[in-house]
Amino acid sequence: MVDAHVIVIGTGILGASIAWHLARGGARVTVVGETAGGVATPASFAWINASWGNPEPYFHLRQRSIREWKRLAEELPALPLRWTGSLTFDLPAAELRAYAEEHGAWGYDIRPLAAAEIAAREPNLAAPPAFALQASGEGAVEPRQAATLLIADARRQGATVLHDRRVLGLTRSAGRITGVETADGSITADCVALAAGSGSAELAATVGVPIEMTAPAGLLVHSKPHAPLLTGLVLSDGLHLRQTIDGSIIAGGDFGGSDPGANPEAAAATLWAWVQAALRGGDALLFDRYTLGYRPTPADGFPIVGRVDGSEGLSLAITHSGVTLAPAIGLFLAREILTAECEPLLASYRFSRFT
Ligand SMILES: Cc1cc2nc3c(=O)[nH]c(=O)nc-3n(C[C@H](O)[C@H](O)[C@H](O)COP(=O)(O)OP(=O)(O)OC[C@H]3O[C@@H](n4cnc5c(N)ncnc54)[C@H](O)[C@@H]3O)c2cc1C
Repeated sequence: MVDAHVIVIGTGILGASIAWHLARGGARVTVVGETAGGVATPASFAWINASWGNPEPYFHLRQRSIREWKRLAEELPALPLRWTGSLTFDLPAAELRAYAEEHGAWGYDIRPLAAAEIAAREPNLAAPPAFALQASGEGAVEPRQAATLLIADARRQGATVLHDRRVLGLTRSAGRITGVETADGSITADCVALAAGSGSAELAATVGVPIEMTAPAGLLVHSKPHAPLLTGLVLSDGLHLRQTIDGSIIAGGDFGGSDPGANPEAAAATLWAWVQAALRGGDALLFDRYTLGYRPTPADGFPIVGRVDGSEGLSLAITHSGVTLAPAIGLFLAREILTAECEPLLASYRFSRFT
């Protein structure tokens, strides 16, 4: 159904990528989102990676999405994306070596660095480690700008974009999803792609689709723009750092953000002190703000992507690591909606695993 009318709910990085790929594929697209640029998306560390701690199928999905970011950047050169690589030393040395061996065998571009190479790569680390790994293919994107740009380009390709519009529920008739009910009336469509982040479970429940998910909080601190201090991402034990394209340093206890506890202001002040201490010249950094984000996370920690059996016309896209995964999920979901082609890399990430 290449000329299908598809409603995409959500204008974060996932909804934006889905809308862009659908518009590119010839669909009639209506994007509805309450918050332009998303909710989790602008609060994200936005590290694009296929790093440690995940099973091999998930590694391959992430690795594919890294390639899809590169393809998207060729089509949209204004995407605020940089492939700086990363320096990882947030595990004991033996575990770092095991990670490098495993991921190297899977095809990840990763190699050990000794002290002198680390100092040459990141000369502004106040306490550089004796051993770290460099993952050259990793990078970061400025997530809110990327989502905004994708939505703007989808609009240029004919998509209708309804910002500041709350969806109250999905509509269903004879087992088929027929559209959405919004605060300003109903919209009918051939398909609905639900990419509403932490709001997805509530909306899916309106048509009897039970999604179990959590939304762990994560706090990041942001400096005001500063002259370059970091070459790439720095992933140390207890502190993950990167410098944005405009020069701000962003940091969290890890990339998913520190646990804010009961007092986010105090947690941000502590984290900020660590950032300043971690960098030579850190004293000169000026604090800008802290952000508190909530990562949309399906119950088993892995993405839910694709059609829902028994609810024809409904597709889901719900995940943490959504910044890394957005281009692949957008591409695969649009293809599935428009041509019924099922992507093998999504086999482990269907909603049917819960039912
Ligand atoms: C602190 C932190 C650090 C992170 N670090 C990384 C990282 O380093 N790398 C990485 O890959 N990922 C990271 N993530 C995860 C990543 O940011 C998210 O997975 C991603 O942003 C999710 O995008 P989304 O579009 O699904 O959701 P969101 O950005 O939350 O967007 C949801 C959209 O749905 C809309 N919506 C919701 N309900 C409704 C409704 N009823 N009606 C209308 N619209 C609605 C919202 O308005 C919004 O537009 C991090 C997240 C956080 C919070």
